[in-house]
This record gives sequence, C-alpha cells and structure tokens, in this order.
Amino acid sequence: MDLTSYAELAVVLVNRGDRLTGLGELRRLLEEHGRSAAAERVTRRDLNALLELREELSEVFQAAARGEEEDVVERINGLLVRHPVHPQICRHDGQRWHMHLTESGRVSDALAVGSVMGLATVITTLGVDRLGVCQAAPCRNVYLDTSSNKSRRYCSERCASRANVAAYRARKRGA
Ligand SMILES: [Zn+2]
Ligand SMILES: [Zn+2]
Repeated sequence: MDLTSYAELAVVLVNRGDRLTGLGELRRLLEEHGRSAAAERVTRRDLNALLELREELSEVFQAAARGEEEDVVERINGLLVRHPVHPQICRHDGQRWHMHLTESGRVSDALAVGSVMGLATVITTLGVDRLGVCQAAPCRNVYLDTSSNKSRRYCSERCASRANVAAYRARKRGA
C-alpha cells in the first residue's frame, strides 16, 4: 500500500470536490489517479459519502494551516475511529504479496480509510505542518509539503508564479 499516494488522494478530493457534481466526474477523477477498479464500482452513495468526507478533510487542512496541531490530531483521530482499517494481504498483476488497507465494502469506505491513514502517516512521520492551504489568494486549494526544507506555500506552479507576479507589482508600486 502506498500511503503517500492515498494522502495525495485526500488533497485531490478536497481540491476537486466542488466540481464533483455527478458520478461521471467522480469516475474521471478516480481514473486520472490510477484507481480504475474503484471508478467502475462507484455509486451515488459513494459520491455522497465522499463529499461529506471532503468537508472533514478540508477542515483538517484549514486547522493545520492555522497551526492548530491539537485540533488536527483530534479530527484525524475521530476519522480513524469512524473509518477503521481492515488490512488484507493481496497479490495481483504479477506483484509480490503486499498489503491492501480495505478489500471489502464500499468504494467510499476504502477511499476514506486510505485518505485518513495517508494523512495520519504524513502527520506522524513528517509533521502536522506538512499540511497546508495555498497562500495565493483567492485560491483555497490544499497541498502536502513533501519538500526537504518545508518551503512549500502554494498548491501549484501556477499559483506560485501568480503570487510572484503580484509581489513584484507591489514592490514596483512601492518603489
Ligand atoms: Zn495491490
Ligand atoms: Zn493555489
């Protein structure tokens, strides 16, 4: 199981959530992120559950961006209780035996467990301050900072250069 990719899924879910208006969008999102088996099985119930989860994940990132570590941990612990892990050893596609977090149950449960475990792993191995909210207003996208010097401030290259241009213009006006 690749928990970093699951943590990235949490990011995608938060950032793309407002465009998840139907099953078609959810399928596309899952396919784009290498989860085509899940994409085939999703139902409207999964979509509703994931939209609810998205709100909670978003609050985790907002709290982290405010530096409220206790709050982040409390929220994640709450999510871990509600989305218990049922690990299974699996082998497929010519790979070695490896762990899957959830094999049975609904797609939304599996994705919830993966996202929450992924974030829990990032927090406990790298730190709560690795979760952030883009600082190029009005963008409110979230990100995971996996840089070695914890230097990330923006969700994307696009937002970073937009912020740089804005800062340059502000300096020019000031000069
Ligand atoms: Zn596998
Ligand atoms: Zn951004």
